[in-house]
Amino acid sequence: MTARRSAPTVLPCAIDPQSWDIDEGSYRAGRDAQRECFRCPRLAACRAEVAKMIAAGDLPRSMIWAGVAYRHEGTAVATDRELRVYYNRVEGQRAIERGSAA
Ligand code: SF4
Repeated sequence: MTARRSAPTVLPCAIDPQSWDIDEGSYRAGRDAQRECFRCPRLAACRAEVAKMIAAGDLPRSMIWAGVAYRHEGTAVATDRELRVYYNRVEGQRAIERGSAA
């Protein structure tokens, strides 16, 4: 008799990690990443992990984790408007670094 194995779940953030990095992706990619988190089978576990890390003072930085975006200093982005502002600021910084800022 052979044991039946289920296929391992490939997590969305492992397939496209750049979209979960809010210093790399775009506003649209970030919003899509948040939606993927809310459908993810690991959402509850992720929420527990990030809560444990924050309680220990180890803040998530520049990422989306369990559907929440965290700025590079570790504070959560609370609203859609704040998320747009963050991505606009990051894009402006990238433009400066490329030497293409207006
Ligand atoms: S809930 Fe966690 S494991 Fe799932 S996509 Fe989001 S960050 Fe990745």
